Amino acid sequence: MYDVIVIGAGPAGMTAALYASRSNLSVAMIERGAPGGQMNNTAEVDNYPGFEMILGPDLADKMLEGATKFGAENLYGIVQEVRDCGEYQEVVTGDQVYQTKTVILATGCEHRKLGVKGEEEFAGRGVSYCAVCDGAFFRNRKLLVIGGGDSAVEEAAYLTQFASEVVIVHRRDELRAQKVIQDRAFANEKISFLWDSVAEEIVGNDMAVTGVRIKNVKTGEIHEESANGVFIYVGLDPLTEPFRSSGLTNEEGWIKTDDEMRTAIPGVFAVGDVREKNLRQITTAVGDGSIAGQEVFNYIEAQKDVKVSK
Ligand code: FAD
Ligand code: NAP
Repeated sequence: MYDVIVIGAGPAGMTAALYASRSNLSVAMIERGAPGGQMNNTAEVDNYPGFEMILGPDLADKMLEGATKFGAENLYGIVQEVRDCGEYQEVVTGDQVYQTKTVILATGCEHRKLGVKGEEEFAGRGVSYCAVCDGAFFRNRKLLVIGGGDSAVEEAAYLTQFASEVVIVHRRDELRAQKVIQDRAFANEKISFLWDSVAEEIVGNDMAVTGVRIKNVKTGEIHEESANGVFIYVGLDPLTEPFRSSGLTNEEGWIKTDDEMRTAIPGVFAVGDVREKNLRQITTAVGDGSIAGQEVFNYIEAQKDVKVSK
C-alpha cells in the first residue's frame, strides 16, 4: 500500500510527488505519456520564475529530476478508475490495481477540437494542435492559427520562425490573450489577423491541407483562405473521464476543491489545471502541487490519531 498515488506527471503532479516524498511518504506517480504534461507541447516559457526563458520540454526534464530525487516512483499507466474503499483508495490501470492511503488527481486537460469538417480528415496532414511538435514541417509556408487566447497568439509568434506568414483567425475583434503576448504579436511583421472570423471547413487535396473556408460572423461573407497548415488553439477540456462518476466534478468536468486541494472524498486531492480555477499556468499548477503534497502528510498523520483514539 502506498501513502500517496499521484495521477498525472505534469508540473502539478510532479511538484506534489516532490513534496510528499520529501516528507518521507511512499509515493508513486502514474503517467500515461511522457512526464511533463502540456509543457512538452510548449515552446518558450518566459513566465516561470527563476528563468528568463526556458523551453517547455527542458523545464519538464528538470521537474522530473526534482520529483523523483526523494524516492517517488515514476510509473507508466493509463488510470481508468479510482475506487473509494473508505480507509484507502484503489487506483485502477489497464493491468494493475494499486492500493493507496491517498490520491492526488493531477490529470490536467487537453486541447479542444474545433469540430469542423476536414479537421479529423487532415489531422497530421496539415492540421495540428502542437506548434513545438509540427512547426518545423512548415518552413516558408503559410499557416493559419485558429483562436485568440494565450496559446493561439503565443504559438503563432513561435511559428513565425518557420513560416513565411501566419494568419490568426479569431471569432471576435479583440484577443483574449494577455496584453504582453498580444503586443508581441502586433509587432511581428509575419503575423496578420482575420477578425470576426470562424473556420467553417478545412479543405485540401489527397496529400495535405490547401486552405480553410472562413466566414465573417458580422457580414456573413465566406471566402477560402489559402494555407499549408492549420494550428488549432480553441481552449481546453479537463481530463476527468475516470472520475466523473465519483461526483467530484462540476458540470463542465473540472474538479472542485477547497484551498487545501481537498475534494469531496476524504483522502482524494486534486491539483493543477484539472481543478475548477481561474488561472491555469505552470506556476499555479506548481503551487497547487506543493499544497497537496504537504496536505497528504497532514491527512495521513490525522488518520493515525483517529485510529489511536478508537
Ligand atoms: P498537465 O500539464 O496537463 O499534465 C497532466 C498530465 O496528466 C499529463 O502528462 C497527462 O498525460 C496525464 N494524464 C491525464 N490523464 C491521465 C490518466 N488517465 N492516467 C495517467 N496519466 C494521465 N503556462 C505557463 O505558465 N507559461 C506558458 O508559457 C504556457 N504556455 C502554454 C502553451 C500551450 C500551447 C499550452 C497548451 C499551455 C501553456 N501553459 C503555459 C499552461 C500550462 O502548460 C498548464 O497550466 C500546466 O501544464 C498545467 O499543469 P498540470 O500538471 O495541471 O497538467
Ligand atoms: P482559452 O484561454 O480558453 O482561449 C481559447 C480561445 O479560443 C479564445 O480566444 C476563444 O474565443 C477561442 N475559441 C473557443 N472556442 C472556439 C470556437 N469553437 N471557434 C473559434 N474560436 C474559439 O485557451 P488557451 O489559449 O488554450 O489557454 C488555456 C490556458 O492556458 C489559459 O489559462 C491560459 O492563460 C494558459 N496559457 C498560458 C500561457 C502563458 O502564460 N504564456 C500560454 C498558453 C496558455 P473567445 O476569446 O471569443 O472566447
